[in-house]
Amino acid sequence: MGLEFAPKFTSPPNHNVASRVSAAFSFWRNSSFLKFLLVILLVTASAAQTPQPTKVEPKTVRKNDLKIIDKPIQFDQERIRLTQEYMRKHYAIEQNDITIKPQAIVLHYTAINSFLSTWNYFNRTRIEAERPELQRESELNVSAQFLVDRDGTIYRLMPENWMARHCIGLNHVAIGVENVGDEKDFPLTDAQVDADAALVRYLATEFPIVYLLGHQEYRRMEQTPLFHEEVAGYRTGKSDPGEDFMRHVRAKLADLDLKAPPGT
Ligand SMILES: [Zn+2]
Repeated sequence: MGLEFAPKFTSPPNHNVASRVSAAFSFWRNSSFLKFLLVILLVTASAAQTPQPTKVEPKTVRKNDLKIIDKPIQFDQERIRLTQEYMRKHYAIEQNDITIKPQAIVLHYTAINSFLSTWNYFNRTRIEAERPELQRESELNVSAQFLVDRDGTIYRLMPENWMARHCIGLNHVAIGVENVGDEKDFPLTDAQVDADAALVRYLATEFPIVYLLGHQEYRRMEQTPLFHEEVAGYRTGKSDPGEDFMRHVRAKLADLDLKAPPGT
Protein backbone atom coordinates (compact mmCIF):
# COMPACT_ATOMS: atom_id res chain seq x y z
CA MET A 1 0.00 0.00 0.00
CA GLY A 2 2.85 2.35 0.77
CA LEU A 3 4.27 1.96 -2.73
CA GLU A 4 1.22 3.53 -4.35
CA PHE A 5 1.82 6.76 -2.48
CA ALA A 6 5.59 6.80 -2.45
CA PRO A 7 6.34 8.31 -5.91
CA LYS A 8 4.31 11.48 -5.40
CA PHE A 9 7.21 13.87 -4.91
CA THR A 10 9.50 12.70 -7.68
CA SER A 11 9.56 15.84 -9.84
CA PRO A 12 12.90 17.67 -9.71
CA PRO A 13 13.04 20.57 -7.30
CA ASN A 14 12.85 24.15 -8.57
CA HIS A 15 16.52 25.06 -8.58
CA ASN A 16 15.95 28.78 -8.27
CA VAL A 17 13.96 28.44 -5.09
CA ALA A 18 16.24 25.71 -3.80
CA SER A 19 19.35 27.77 -4.31
CA ARG A 20 17.81 30.86 -2.71
CA VAL A 21 16.80 28.79 0.29
CA SER A 22 20.21 27.21 0.39
CA ALA A 23 21.92 30.61 0.21
CA ALA A 24 19.73 31.96 2.98
CA PHE A 25 20.36 28.88 5.05
CA SER A 26 24.09 29.16 4.62
CA PHE A 27 23.90 32.87 5.59
CA TRP A 28 21.94 31.82 8.67
CA ARG A 29 24.47 29.15 9.51
CA ASN A 30 27.26 31.63 9.32
CA SER A 31 25.52 34.49 10.99
CA SER A 32 25.85 34.33 14.73
CA PHE A 33 24.30 37.81 14.86
CA LEU A 34 21.00 36.50 13.45
CA LYS A 35 21.01 33.66 15.94
CA PHE A 36 21.64 36.13 18.71
CA LEU A 37 18.74 38.26 17.47
CA LEU A 38 16.43 35.26 17.36
CA VAL A 39 17.38 34.22 20.88
CA ILE A 40 16.68 37.73 22.15
CA LEU A 41 13.30 37.75 20.36
CA LEU A 42 12.37 34.36 21.81
CA VAL A 43 13.41 35.34 25.32
CA THR A 44 11.50 38.62 25.09
CA ALA A 45 8.41 36.88 23.74
CA SER A 46 8.43 34.19 26.42
CA ALA A 47 8.98 36.78 29.15
CA ALA A 48 6.01 38.75 27.86
CA GLN A 49 3.81 35.63 28.04
CA THR A 50 4.88 34.60 31.55
CA PRO A 51 2.36 35.94 34.07
CA GLN A 52 4.17 38.50 36.14
CA PRO A 53 3.61 38.06 39.87
CA THR A 54 3.23 41.76 40.52
CA LYS A 55 3.38 45.08 38.77
CA VAL A 56 5.07 46.73 41.69
CA GLU A 57 8.79 46.13 42.06
CA PRO A 58 9.73 44.78 45.47
CA LYS A 59 10.98 47.59 47.60
CA THR A 60 12.72 47.28 50.88
CA VAL A 61 11.93 49.43 53.86
CA ARG A 62 13.95 49.47 57.03
CA LYS A 63 12.44 50.27 60.39
CA ASN A 64 14.77 50.11 63.34
CA ASP A 65 17.00 47.56 61.58
CA LEU A 66 13.98 45.49 60.57
CA LYS A 67 14.02 44.67 56.89
CA ILE A 68 10.63 44.33 55.19
CA ILE A 69 10.26 43.63 51.49
CA ASP A 70 7.12 44.93 49.82
CA LYS A 71 5.64 42.34 47.47
CA PRO A 72 2.02 43.35 47.10
CA ILE A 73 -0.66 40.87 46.14
CA GLN A 74 -3.44 41.96 43.84
CA PHE A 75 -6.00 44.19 45.49
CA ASP A 76 -8.11 45.39 42.60
CA GLN A 77 -11.55 46.99 42.78
CA GLU A 78 -13.25 43.60 42.92
CA ARG A 79 -11.17 42.45 45.87
CA ILE A 80 -11.86 45.72 47.65
CA ARG A 81 -15.58 45.28 47.01
CA LEU A 82 -15.47 41.68 48.32
CA THR A 83 -13.60 42.90 51.41
CA GLN A 84 -16.27 45.52 52.06
CA GLU A 85 -18.95 42.85 51.66
CA TYR A 86 -17.11 40.65 54.18
CA MET A 87 -16.89 43.52 56.66
CA ARG A 88 -20.61 44.19 56.29
CA LYS A 89 -21.71 40.55 56.57
CA HIS A 90 -19.39 39.34 59.33
CA TYR A 91 -18.65 42.47 61.39
CA ALA A 92 -21.62 44.73 60.59
CA ILE A 93 -19.09 47.36 59.52
CA GLU A 94 -20.16 49.70 56.76
CA GLN A 95 -17.40 51.94 55.43
CA ASN A 96 -16.08 53.35 52.17
CA ASP A 97 -12.64 51.83 52.47
CA ILE A 98 -11.19 48.60 53.90
CA THR A 99 -9.01 50.03 56.62
CA ILE A 100 -8.88 48.55 60.10
CA LYS A 101 -7.48 49.72 63.42
CA PRO A 102 -5.19 46.85 64.42
CA GLN A 103 -5.28 45.83 68.08
CA ALA A 104 -4.17 42.22 67.73
CA ILE A 105 -1.66 40.18 65.77
CA VAL A 106 -2.40 36.60 64.71
CA LEU A 107 0.48 34.29 63.74
CA HIS A 108 -0.06 31.44 61.28
CA TYR A 109 1.67 28.86 59.18
CA THR A 110 0.75 28.43 55.54
CA ALA A 111 0.66 24.62 55.15
CA ILE A 112 2.20 25.42 51.74
CA ASN A 113 5.92 24.76 51.59
CA SER A 114 7.19 27.60 49.42
CA PHE A 115 7.04 31.36 49.51
CA LEU A 116 6.13 31.70 45.83
CA SER A 117 3.32 29.13 45.92
CA THR A 118 1.85 30.89 48.93
CA TRP A 119 2.21 34.30 47.31
CA ASN A 120 0.47 33.05 44.16
CA TYR A 121 -2.29 31.50 46.26
CA PHE A 122 -2.93 34.75 48.12
CA ASN A 123 -2.70 36.76 44.92
CA ARG A 124 -6.01 35.40 43.66
CA THR A 125 -9.01 37.63 44.28
CA ARG A 126 -11.55 34.89 44.92
CA ILE A 127 -11.31 31.92 47.26
CA GLU A 128 -10.89 28.50 45.68
CA ALA A 129 -13.95 26.28 45.37
CA GLU A 130 -12.09 23.51 47.21
CA ARG A 131 -12.72 25.36 50.48
CA PRO A 132 -16.54 25.31 50.53
CA GLU A 133 -16.81 26.04 54.27
CA LEU A 134 -15.05 29.36 53.63
CA GLN A 135 -16.55 30.05 50.21
CA ARG A 136 -20.04 29.74 51.64
CA GLU A 137 -19.35 32.75 53.85
CA SER A 138 -17.58 34.93 51.29
CA GLU A 139 -15.97 34.82 47.86
CA LEU A 140 -13.11 36.93 49.20
CA ASN A 141 -9.82 35.04 49.07
CA VAL A 142 -7.73 34.53 52.17
CA SER A 143 -4.54 36.52 52.67
CA ALA A 144 -2.38 38.09 55.34
CA GLN A 145 -0.60 41.40 55.65
CA PHE A 146 2.77 39.66 56.11
CA LEU A 147 4.39 36.48 54.88
CA VAL A 148 7.63 35.24 56.46
CA ASP A 149 9.78 32.89 54.42
CA ARG A 150 11.63 29.96 55.96
CA ASP A 151 14.89 31.93 56.12
CA GLY A 152 13.16 34.69 58.07
CA THR A 153 12.75 37.13 55.18
CA ILE A 154 9.70 39.29 55.86
CA TYR A 155 7.41 40.26 52.98
CA ARG A 156 4.56 42.74 53.21
CA LEU A 157 1.76 41.64 50.91
CA MET A 158 -0.65 44.50 51.57
CA PRO A 159 -0.88 47.59 53.77
CA GLU A 160 -0.89 46.75 57.48
CA ASN A 161 -4.18 48.54 58.02
CA TRP A 162 -6.14 46.95 55.18
CA MET A 163 -8.35 44.05 56.15
CA ALA A 164 -7.05 40.60 55.23
CA ARG A 165 -9.15 37.47 55.57
CA HIS A 166 -7.06 35.26 57.85
CA CYS A 167 -8.88 34.71 61.15
CA ILE A 168 -12.60 34.34 61.76
CA GLY A 169 -13.95 36.90 64.22
CA LEU A 170 -10.81 39.06 64.25
CA ASN A 171 -10.00 40.23 60.73
CA HIS A 172 -11.46 43.67 61.46
CA VAL A 173 -8.96 44.26 64.28
CA ALA A 174 -6.04 41.94 63.59
CA ILE A 175 -2.91 41.88 61.47
CA GLY A 176 -2.07 38.43 60.09
CA VAL A 177 1.47 37.09 59.86
CA GLU A 178 1.83 33.91 57.81
CA ASN A 179 4.92 31.71 58.01
CA VAL A 180 5.90 29.36 55.18
CA GLY A 181 5.76 25.85 56.64
CA ASP A 182 3.62 23.27 58.37
CA GLU A 183 3.68 20.97 61.39
CA LYS A 184 5.13 17.86 59.74
CA ASP A 185 7.46 18.08 56.77
CA PHE A 186 8.37 21.76 56.99
CA PRO A 187 8.40 22.71 60.67
CA LEU A 188 8.74 26.43 61.32
CA THR A 189 12.33 27.61 61.75
CA ASP A 190 14.31 29.54 64.36
CA ALA A 191 14.73 32.26 61.73
CA GLN A 192 10.95 32.57 61.54
CA VAL A 193 10.69 32.81 65.33
CA ASP A 194 13.22 35.69 65.26
CA ALA A 195 11.52 37.39 62.29
CA ASP A 196 8.02 37.13 63.76
CA ALA A 197 9.21 38.51 67.09
CA ALA A 198 10.99 41.43 65.38
CA LEU A 199 7.95 42.12 63.22
CA VAL A 200 5.55 42.07 66.18
CA ARG A 201 7.91 44.39 68.06
CA TYR A 202 7.85 46.84 65.13
CA LEU A 203 4.06 46.62 64.67
CA ALA A 204 3.53 47.25 68.38
CA THR A 205 5.28 50.61 67.93
CA GLU A 206 3.04 51.53 64.98
CA PHE A 207 -0.35 50.40 66.31
CA PRO A 208 -1.97 50.02 69.75
CA ILE A 209 -1.53 46.24 69.77
CA VAL A 210 -3.01 44.56 72.84
CA TYR A 211 -3.14 40.87 71.92
CA LEU A 212 -0.69 38.47 70.33
CA LEU A 213 -2.09 35.06 69.51
CA GLY A 214 -1.56 31.96 67.46
CA HIS A 215 -4.37 31.08 65.08
CA GLN A 216 -5.01 27.89 67.05
CA GLU A 217 -5.92 30.11 70.04
CA TYR A 218 -8.45 32.32 68.24
CA ARG A 219 -11.60 30.84 69.75
CA ARG A 220 -10.50 31.89 73.21
CA MET A 221 -10.73 35.46 71.92
CA GLU A 222 -14.52 35.02 71.87
CA GLN A 223 -14.35 35.95 75.53
CA THR A 224 -12.96 39.38 74.66
CA PRO A 225 -14.74 42.42 73.19
CA LEU A 226 -12.44 42.32 70.16
CA PHE A 227 -14.03 39.17 68.76
CA HIS A 228 -17.04 39.72 66.53
CA GLU A 229 -18.82 37.35 64.18
CA GLU A 230 -22.30 38.06 62.86
CA VAL A 231 -22.81 34.61 61.33
CA ALA A 232 -23.70 32.15 64.06
CA GLY A 233 -21.69 28.95 63.92
CA TYR A 234 -19.11 30.22 61.43
CA ARG A 235 -15.97 28.72 63.00
CA THR A 236 -13.18 26.49 61.72
CA GLY A 237 -10.76 24.32 63.70
CA LYS A 238 -7.16 25.53 63.55
CA SER A 239 -3.83 24.13 64.70
CA ASP A 240 -1.40 26.68 63.26
CA PRO A 241 1.23 27.82 64.05
CA GLY A 242 1.35 25.58 67.14
CA GLU A 243 2.09 26.00 70.82
CA ASP A 244 5.87 25.60 70.54
CA PHE A 245 6.17 28.37 68.01
CA MET A 246 4.01 30.72 70.07
CA ARG A 247 6.00 29.97 73.22
CA HIS A 248 9.28 30.80 71.49
CA VAL A 249 7.98 34.02 69.94
CA ARG A 250 6.39 35.16 73.22
CA ALA A 251 9.62 34.49 75.09
CA LYS A 252 11.36 37.06 72.91
CA LEU A 253 8.65 39.66 73.54
CA ALA A 254 8.15 39.32 77.29
CA ASP A 255 9.05 42.99 77.82
CA LEU A 256 6.14 44.18 75.65
CA ASP A 257 3.43 42.81 77.97
CA LEU A 258 1.20 41.80 75.09
CA LYS A 259 -1.80 39.81 76.20
CA ALA A 260 -2.46 36.23 75.22
CA PRO A 261 -6.09 35.12 74.77
CA PRO A 262 -7.88 34.33 78.05
CA GLY A 263 -6.96 30.92 79.38
CA THR A 264 -3.74 30.60 77.36
ZN1 LIG B 1 -3.94 30.21 60.16
